[in-house]
Amino acid sequence: MAGRVDGKVALVTGGGSGIGRATALVFAREGAKVVVADIVVAGGEETVRLIKAAGGEAVFIKADVSKAAEVEALVKKTVETHGRLDCAFNNAGIEGEVAQTPNCTEENWDRTIAINLKGVWLCLKYEIPQMLKQGGGAIVNTASVAGLVGFQGTPAYVASKHGVAGLTKTAALEYAKAGIRVNAVCPGVIHTPMVERAFSASPQMAEAAIAMEPVGRLGKPEEIAEAVVWLCSDAASFVTGLPMVVDGGLVAR
Ligand code: NAD
Repeated sequence: MAGRVDGKVALVTGGGSGIGRATALVFAREGAKVVVADIVVAGGEETVRLIKAAGGEAVFIKADVSKAAEVEALVKKTVETHGRLDCAFNNAGIEGEVAQTPNCTEENWDRTIAINLKGVWLCLKYEIPQMLKQGGGAIVNTASVAGLVGFQGTPAYVASKHGVAGLTKTAALEYAKAGIRVNAVCPGVIHTPMVERAFSASPQMAEAAIAMEPVGRLGKPEEIAEAVVWLCSDAASFVTGLPMVVDGGLVAR
């Protein structure tokens, strides 16, 4: 049976861990040739190994999404390798530090915005022209439930994710007639190394996070991956500009 993204070329940033790795694996399972990008070489290479072990096709390209030259080179190498770029999952991100708004350091603000928001914009900047040349494509940006509502103690993170939601809608409108769909995924609390780090810094946070989730558990990275690959597939051909909530009911409260 044909996969949902059979023969397509899919780029995943932050593909070396958590949601990005799970999504790279689902893209490959569904027939895509996957380009895994990450700033951490070991994680990216491990994702490629897992994809190949499962019979899929993948390559790793190191890139820091906050650096224009590296993102430009990433898209260029993807096209040199596979001739095109059909699906892009702009997912690399960091959690930043926890501090109330006046106590957020300038360094934390700048770093969080540079990776989570400027990084997504840079990806769009270089992916869209390539998709225009080919006559279309599908992009999913990783926002968050923190792109829809506020969370105390994470001003830079919340601002970055609200920014991603707005950027997604703007790019979707700009390129709707050109056959490029741009959507965002807004995960709830998903059990990944990012969340593990937060839990180890503050053990009470694990209980609080589960209590926030109406379904009574954390999400799994694979549950985000399925939504992303669906958004990138032709089954979602009339869906663009959507911040898609995949959160176990968190923002329904
Ligand atoms: P993770 O820490 O497991 O994975 C993030 C990956 O991004 C890592 O492999 C890391 O090396 C990479 N990365 C970080 N900075 C980078 C950079 N400058 N350039 C390239 N790669 C970089 O985290 P995750 O939980 O899988 O998060 C993935 C995305 O999902 C993030 O954007 C995060 O904000 C978002 N998100 C996560 C949750 C959650 O609960 N886990 C919820 C909502 C949104």
